[in-house]
Amino acid sequence: LAAPDGSTRPTIFAEMTALAAATGAVNLGQGFPDADGPAWVREAAVDAIRSGANQYPPGRGTPALRRAIADHQARHYDLALDPETQVLVTAGATEAITAAILALAGPGDEVLTLEPFYDSHAASIALAGATHTTAPLVPGPDGFRLDLDALAAAATARTRVILLNTPHNPTGTVLSRTELEAVAAAAVRADAVVVTDEVYEHLVYDGAAHVPIATLPGMAERTLTISSAGKTFSLTGWKIGWATGPAHLVEAALAVKQFLTYSGGAPFQPAIARALAEGDGDVRELRDSLGARRDTLVRGLREVGLAVVEPRGAYFVCADASPLLTAELPDGAALARALPAAVGVACVPVAAFCRTGSPTAASLAPWLRFTFSKDASTIEEALTRLRRLR
Ligand code: GLN
Repeated sequence: LAAPDGSTRPTIFAEMTALAAATGAVNLGQGFPDADGPAWVREAAVDAIRSGANQYPPGRGTPALRRAIADHQARHYDLALDPETQVLVTAGATEAITAAILALAGPGDEVLTLEPFYDSHAASIALAGATHTTAPLVPGPDGFRLDLDALAAAATARTRVILLNTPHNPTGTVLSRTELEAVAAAAVRADAVVVTDEVYEHLVYDGAAHVPIATLPGMAERTLTISSAGKTFSLTGWKIGWATGPAHLVEAALAVKQFLTYSGGAPFQPAIARALAEGDGDVRELRDSLGARRDTLVRGLREVGLAVVEPRGAYFVCADASPLLTAELPDGAALARALPAAVGVACVPVAAFCRTGSPTAASLAPWLRFTFSKDASTIEEALTRLRRLR
């Protein structure tokens, strides 16, 4: 049974990871860390298993984790939330996003995203039977910036939801306050709900600041803010995410979530509650280390001849690979599928994050995405291999 956009095919991440495994390539495709998160957080989960946190947790999440999430939003962003009614724990941000879109949009409704966009966002919209519209992020000297005119034109009376991702996968853009104000204005004009994906909220570099759109004037009441522990604590397989915001939006997401997974992650919930409360130092360490790895990857890709747009957030670098394209390998998709066997490096074509045949897909056809979530030595090895291309 395929979703309208065929999204039941294996994801591009699964495809490139399988290709990397089959060819022995260094995998800078799928973005996940190869160093597990803090030992003390992992020990906390082991303790939780030993002390009996092994049956269904409450559908909304354990009280302790909901409180820790509310405290986190208050401490970092000055957002006040009632843990009883305004916080929902989910199976990663992916489930929260899918539950929210299924709850809020249906046939005849439009859901507006940035383009490129993370693949599961498009799949959620397709599963809801809604129409996917986009506003492009355009590469330039200041990074990929939101086309504000296109955004204004794309937000219509049919737009039910604006699904906003910042820090952004795949481009690494951290939306500026001006861009967020334009999104907020578009949401108010269309009377749309904003659903966010902020899973890279703490992975920002060069002093860039992540601003949740819920903190903008008038936006808290129309925004469902979604994030997770996976990226922040390098525990992507634990799948502990959350949605926060007005009770009616949390309730709507819960109504769907209860029939997707009901609940989950019993021993991980108390461990993440502790990580959120006590892990700020670990997060700073991860951010600094990722910042250094970003610099290595950006420098190395430039040496190979790629035009790199330096990311301010997340753990991906997008690069224009036009100099490497040939008649046989005419675009990023072909190049990404050939690189593992040719030089032993896997990455992901940026067009995989675009609507098939869209103008953005056409303009980003030569682009590749590389992750710097891997060890410094793994990144160095990938760069050594890529240098053979010169
Ligand atoms: N978020 C990860 C990435 O963008 C992939 C997660 C997945 O494989 N679904 O690379």
